[in-house]
Amino acid sequence: MRGLFALAERIFAINIAPADGDAPVWHEDVRYFQVSDETEVAIAHFYLDPYSRPEEKRGGAWMDECIGRGKISENGQTVLRLPVAYLVCNQTPPVDGKPALMTFEEVETLFHEFGHGLQHMLTQVDYPGAAGINNIEWDAVELPSQFMENWCYDRATLMGMAHHYETGETLPEHYYQKLLAARNYMSGSAMLRQLHFSLLDLALHHHYQPERDTPQQIRERLIPTTTVLPPLPEDQFLCAFGHIFAGGYAAGYYSYKWAEVLSADAFSAFEEVGLGDEIAIAATGRRFRETILSLGGSLHPMEIYKIFRGREPQTAAILRHSGLVPAV
Ligand SMILES: [Zn+2]
Repeated sequence: MRGLFALAERIFAINIAPADGDAPVWHEDVRYFQVSDETEVAIAHFYLDPYSRPEEKRGGAWMDECIGRGKISENGQTVLRLPVAYLVCNQTPPVDGKPALMTFEEVETLFHEFGHGLQHMLTQVDYPGAAGINNIEWDAVELPSQFMENWCYDRATLMGMAHHYETGETLPEHYYQKLLAARNYMSGSAMLRQLHFSLLDLALHHHYQPERDTPQQIRERLIPTTTVLPPLPEDQFLCAFGHIFAGGYAAGYYSYKWAEVLSADAFSAFEEVGLGDEIAIAATGRRFRETILSLGGSLHPMEIYKIFRGREPQTAAILRHSGLVPAV
């Protein structure tokens, strides 16, 4: 938590301090924090419910809105209501007197949810319907969350928090190299799989005419360009494509990949100025905060992105981060 909060302070100039006791909680493990700006004025709060409790809490991790930012008029007085977020994870709890020893994936998940939380908490929009994560198009909503995940692979950030819990020893270099290598294991196949599903979803919504094709025929046309090993003849993946038939991703499956394009390209703005250049990182972080984290759904996401990046997103960064540049 210290590593995450230090990063938020470093790149977004916000301070996060424990505020346990300032608000009621639903379980003794739940923490309450205050977020303040550089002038030490409170701008938001959040709950963190970190640990798994299988008997009463569902799995996964999520950020949710407890209170949204808004200007409220009451008895002729207008007051600013500050946002409060819920960050809920299912980390391994502390056992046998040891602290909670998080896996790398649990750290990534925490950073991810914290990214959603930042967009909710740092909004400057005073209309609840467009503040924070509200009114943001589906395909841009994962930008701040995936952006934050990138920092887990940043050497300085990771080494600043990955210490042996007894000896204090920093994560050995060869483990760091393994993490980097594992990140891109089979990344070409993973990319193709997502592109295949995304194009299939769009093709079904865009071209499907029942009197002309079967859904399977639409899929077959995509196979030569989006698979290495063609599916077996008996493959009935379409019957199991729950995301678009039973979930919320109809004509929107592409947003998984698209949000990665956005988040990788946004992170590359920090890489371009130099991840070790504190002044440049602070300036870039401030710009990220004042655009992507502040403007919520008050403008089209592409307009906000262009204010941050000075141009439309490009795919170079996601290809580089995926280790696919030599293959392009
Ligand atoms: Zn998310």
